[in-house]
Amino acid sequence: MNDGTPASRFADTTRAVLTIDLPAIVANWKDLAARGAPGAVAGVVKADGYGLGAAEVGRALRAAGCRHFFVAQLQEGIALRAAIGAGPMIAVLGGFPPGADGDAGLVPVMNSLADVAAHAAATRASGVARRAILHVDTGMARLGLDAAERARLSADHSLLAGIELLYVMTHLACADEPAHPMNAAQAQRFAEACSDLPMARRSFANSSGMFLGPDFASDLSRPGCALYGINPTPDRPNPMRQVARLDAPVLQVREIPAGTPVGYGASWTAPRPTRIATVAVGYADGYLRSLSGKAVADFRGRPVPLVARVSMDLTTFDVTDLPEIAPGDRLTLIGGAGCSPDEVGARAGTIGYEVLTSLGARYARDYIRG
Ligand SMILES: *Cc1c(COP(=O)(O)O)cnc(C)c1O
Repeated sequence: MNDGTPASRFADTTRAVLTIDLPAIVANWKDLAARGAPGAVAGVVKADGYGLGAAEVGRALRAAGCRHFFVAQLQEGIALRAAIGAGPMIAVLGGFPPGADGDAGLVPVMNSLADVAAHAAATRASGVARRAILHVDTGMARLGLDAAERARLSADHSLLAGIELLYVMTHLACADEPAHPMNAAQAQRFAEACSDLPMARRSFANSSGMFLGPDFASDLSRPGCALYGINPTPDRPNPMRQVARLDAPVLQVREIPAGTPVGYGASWTAPRPTRIATVAVGYADGYLRSLSGKAVADFRGRPVPLVARVSMDLTTFDVTDLPEIAPGDRLTLIGGAGCSPDEVGARAGTIGYEVLTSLGARYARDYIRG
């Protein structure tokens, strides 16, 4: 156990524990690396490794042989470089101005011709070629060169002069829906864009895209969510291993008569004599308030229904049918039976990605290192 806090904090029986299984992340990456071969497979560790700790995840993946990482923002890249050391490529999806990475040696993603011009000009000024990735938009309308910019670039490759173009990349909008016509349309547009830029390698699929077949293979796949146990094939059983588990302690168990309201807004009233277990996790910990009345926790394989509203620091569960539950016991709120991040997300009206990236800072973090 080591989250950088004194070991004694794990002895605090009133604090929830987030267990992060680094060997499971590595196993997921190796599965994906085999699937992406002969192309390379990166690790996407933006948003602090989808909430699970970019430094820890980055070091584990690097030790497993991962040579390419993606983050969203410059400061994430600088922190990741400090964590994993020199060597692997760290690309910043949002880009950054030339030189803003200091000596971290990051690779900017160029998302427009203006970005291309800035990096090309900096190269000319310094005489040192700059490595970069070019993002072409094929269907997101978010970042990346649009069709008009792509046409200007294909008519004048000298716009790239001096830039060492590592990859041309694009990003899929609907990869988790295999039958969606966007997928084939984006593959077609990407193939056209790449045929205009034959000197560069290609980076295409995210996690779900890696399951769409050979048209979505490339020199560098960019899985994120699947590393962390989110199902990249939502219409089929999850091929990935579970990675994160949140165990929260019961602070108190009380018996209430039928007719007793529970929690803010008195939104739930006990329909029968009920035992209520109050657990030390709330929406401030990323246990989303939209789970109010909707989630289940897992106690040794048995479902425990959440009742009433999730409040900031506390959540209540109906343990009438589990009389053995006592203060100090821990319920698994995320990562147990019936409460995978995907299932919690579905119950909250969101997706597993948001569940993971919302995980709070108050948990004791227990990294399994294998
Ligand atoms: C987040 C992101 C990924 C990873 O996506 P997942 O669906 O988590 O696998 C890949 N590429 C880009 C551009 C992204 O923004």
